[in-house]
Amino acid sequence: MSSSNPDRVPFVDLYAQYLTIEPEIDEAIASVIRESAYVRGRQVESFERGWAELLGVKYCVSCANGTDALYIAMRGLGLKPGDEVITTAHSWISTSETITQAGGRVVFCDTDDTFTIDPARIEARITDRTVGIIPVHLYGQPADMDPIMAIARKRGLWVIEDCAQAHLARYRGQLVGTFGQAATFSFYPGKNLGAYGDAGCVVTHDAALADWMSLFARHGGKGDHVMEGINSRLDGMQAAVLNVKMKHLERWNQLRREEAGRYDELLRGLPGVVTPGVAPNREHVYHLYVIRTDRREGLRAHLKAAGIDTVINYPKALPFYPAYAYLGHRPEDFPVAHANQSRILSLPIYPEIGADRVARVAKCVGEFTGATA
Ligand SMILES: *Cc1c(COP(=O)(O)O)cnc(C)c1O
Repeated sequence: MSSSNPDRVPFVDLYAQYLTIEPEIDEAIASVIRESAYVRGRQVESFERGWAELLGVKYCVSCANGTDALYIAMRGLGLKPGDEVITTAHSWISTSETITQAGGRVVFCDTDDTFTIDPARIEARITDRTVGIIPVHLYGQPADMDPIMAIARKRGLWVIEDCAQAHLARYRGQLVGTFGQAATFSFYPGKNLGAYGDAGCVVTHDAALADWMSLFARHGGKGDHVMEGINSRLDGMQAAVLNVKMKHLERWNQLRREEAGRYDELLRGLPGVVTPGVAPNREHVYHLYVIRTDRREGLRAHLKAAGIDTVINYPKALPFYPAYAYLGHRPEDFPVAHANQSRILSLPIYPEIGADRVARVAKCVGEFTGATA
């Protein structure tokens, strides 16, 4: 629940959003209980249809979370032991850990100024074992899909878009999740479209892939196990919540864009603060608003003292975590991602934050840069 301190700015406030849709959500949850449709059922089917329709894709296969979605998609695309998959050095670990889980080898690629995979560096990472590319539309900004898809077509690779942070973001007017062979979504509570627990899905235009993935995610078939699978299902309650929230998503994203625009304006020109740029032809949905500064720790402490929560997404680029020490990477292998890891800071942003709180955060950032410049 929101703090009673009116000056406090939480990083996100999911309760504030609930209050704006309380009757709809309460009725949706009650309907699941009335129908005892706890796992799968009517709400789940309606979610799969609704989400596919909203994106303009043919198939949506729901599952338990966005990490499973990546694993299911890679198994569906037939990843074999030793196959290499190229992905971005800057993401949440789900993107890379599932490559390993599915039997593949992780090959990292540096990012560009948009925090997404740098297409100019992909080809140098391709070997005769490379089978696919996983771009991540990080923080809500689409990766540069035209050159990525061109490389994939030329080299015969599949593309899975990790859309966990970019629900309804657009690249040249086209929704992310519609470019590659498959795309995955997370509906973790804090995501732009968030359930009230874990939830995820894979979308695709490919009927055979969709069929395989939905069998695989449900023990290889009910009644007749045509293969061994896993248990990764969406709850009826989560689907019911998503069905309600889906209708508000475009408006919530618009509010995020307005708030980001306000931050851009108020932070512009502050010494030592770089606001997040948006590349041409991309529509950002600001899952996160990430600035860069060389004096991050001081700024973070200053904001904390003023009751403003910030987060670092993420403290290290993936290749530099102990989990990937075996790859033996050095900072110069990923200069952009490495330089960003000590400079990035996510400021509070959520649809209900309001102009006053954005102004208060920006004012505190300004005080810090002024006071210590
Ligand atoms: C949240 C997230 C995931 C994983 O989603 P879960 O639902 O938490 O499993 C995957 N990739 C990225 C980029 C994410 O931000």
